[in-house]
Amino acid sequence: MPLKSTFFIFFFALGFAAVAQTNPVIFRQKEQKKLQQLARVTVASPLEDNYDIKNLRFNLSMSNNSTYISGDVVTNAVAVQNMSAYVFELDTLMAVDSAKINGVSLPVASTGVVRTIALPAALSVGTAFSAQVFYHGTPQNAAVNNYSIGVTHDISNGVEMVYTMSDPYGAKDWWPCKQSLQDKIDSVEMMVTVPAGLKAGSNGLLQSSNATGGFVQYRWKEKYPIVYYLISVSVAPYKDYSYFMHFNNSSDSMLIQNYYYDSTAFFPANKANLDSTGVLINYFSDLFGRYPFYQEKYGHCFTTLQGGMEHQSMSTLGFADVQLIAHEMTHQWFGDNVTFEGWADAWLSEGFATYGEHLYLEHFHGAAAAATFRQQMFAQVMAAIGGRVHVDDSSSFAPIFDSRLVYAKGGAVVHMLRFLADNDSLFFAVLKTYQQQHAYGNANTEDLKQIASQLYNRNLDTFFNQWIYGEGYPKYAGSWNQQNGVVYIQLNQTTSKPASIPLFVTPLELKLSSAQGDTVIKIYNNAATQMVTVNWPNTMTGFTVDPNNWILDRSNTPMKHDISLSVPEIKAAQIKVYPNPASDAWQVENIVPGMQLSLFDMQGRKLWEAKVNNTMVSIPAHQYAPGVYLLKLTNEKGSEAIQLQR
Ligand SMILES: [Zn+2]
Repeated sequence: MPLKSTFFIFFFALGFAAVAQTNPVIFRQKEQKKLQQLARVTVASPLEDNYDIKNLRFNLSMSNNSTYISGDVVTNAVAVQNMSAYVFELDTLMAVDSAKINGVSLPVASTGVVRTIALPAALSVGTAFSAQVFYHGTPQNAAVNNYSIGVTHDISNGVEMVYTMSDPYGAKDWWPCKQSLQDKIDSVEMMVTVPAGLKAGSNGLLQSSNATGGFVQYRWKEKYPIVYYLISVSVAPYKDYSYFMHFNNSSDSMLIQNYYYDSTAFFPANKANLDSTGVLINYFSDLFGRYPFYQEKYGHCFTTLQGGMEHQSMSTLGFADVQLIAHEMTHQWFGDNVTFEGWADAWLSEGFATYGEHLYLEHFHGAAAAATFRQQMFAQVMAAIGGRVHVDDSSSFAPIFDSRLVYAKGGAVVHMLRFLADNDSLFFAVLKTYQQQHAYGNANTEDLKQIASQLYNRNLDTFFNQWIYGEGYPKYAGSWNQQNGVVYIQLNQTTSKPASIPLFVTPLELKLSSAQGDTVIKIYNNAATQMVTVNWPNTMTGFTVDPNNWILDRSNTPMKHDISLSVPEIKAAQIKVYPNPASDAWQVENIVPGMQLSLFDMQGRKLWEAKVNNTMVSIPAHQYAPGVYLLKLTNEKGSEAIQLQR
């Protein structure tokens, strides 16, 4: 469905308002219009996986007044299986004129979008070959939730333009391709011939623009690996606003290139935002590692797209909002440099790009702007009780680009991973290592988990199981009391979807309030009912859970003031110990959370001690000699002892 220019102006005006007010979610929602498209597990035909693409050379003719395309694409590849046929995808609206394998013309058979060239002699594993497909046609423009996939022709302020959008399965709409996430193409040469007066923008660096007979051939070269859905072309009577940015702590500089089409209104109003692009490249390079395509450029092609698309080294944008620029730029690391291995892991792209907006707001607009964004992001996630970040694509079709789960919950998980680090340099070291280890390649959720576990030096199974593979969020209720300067808090956790995750284990901040000032304490919440005791001289008036919005959670505020709440008396008879005698370990249950447990031998030597914030604990026994031991249980109300046998 072609976009109406009046519709575009409406969003454009919103864009200006938001630059001033930093409205956090409007622009993210634009890209989320991709949501609910259908993912499939792999390429359209398994025979496409019989070869590994090395490079592509496009030679296309295009214009700005229709989506009609003609030309050819050369695919240089290597057989990874013995091949008796070369199979590729091209939409049925596009006609194949002829095809050559290694320069020899061969017929092409079509079954829907799957095109097959039977080879006169089989290609054995390891054989390099080239396939050249000549084709033409008027590609489809499939509107998916107003997000046009394929090739779009549009008019804005009287300016005609044509632009491509291949994410997730639209590459086949306009070029003969293999739509595989894992077969990253080592390099792409994009030659596009357009009528004089027009410019064609694409990935990588512009090598030349040669005018002949009323036409200009633009030749772009992307020398970094690229996945099929990031290859793009935009054609319009573009103006070029380019400048060089300089990398921090380096003498290196890089081209920032903007192809824009509306010089009278757009450029004066947006020049400052375009100038922010270089500043942002530096900012994100400091956080994630050097911009991955730094030997080329970063740029934007402006179109009527309702949002943005992270085409490698040349994002397509519908407007020049800096938050949208930050989102698509973050994708250059997350999605483009490190491409998710399967659609189930799309959060590794969209979750991080959403969090890129948060990082931008936090750094350039302050903590309050980031907090507002985060609140809206979290509220979006918790608008429903369940849903997984990791899309289940074990069936052949699954929803991808779900705005609530892949974007918002994905972004929330990145924030919680940062909270778990409790140390920003450690958190960003994980992101940098992930970028380095999987540079120009693919990664999945387990790859990220492995790097984070290693650098955090802790097992992250629970974290990933509950937030990425599991559903729901914790809900807190509680009560409090204060006696003689000691604060007693009883915290109760239920979850929004107990059938999936009955208990979330997480660090948690509690804010204690008083007229004399507030304080924030941090606990480790690992029980459905947990007692917290803390000494605090201020006169407490209440407490709130997760005051800085670090985790996805809901809580009852205000929490109940329960004057009967204090540390319960220890009743030794209620404590359960088994086995007793024990050879390996004593399991101790029915503990009042907050108790101090100390193990003594009969000579009064303290062998082991722990403050237990849970209702049960396991005490190792195997290293002690057989005999009788004393377990002393202590809290503010007194102490009791239990005899243990080894
Ligand atoms: Zn995105």
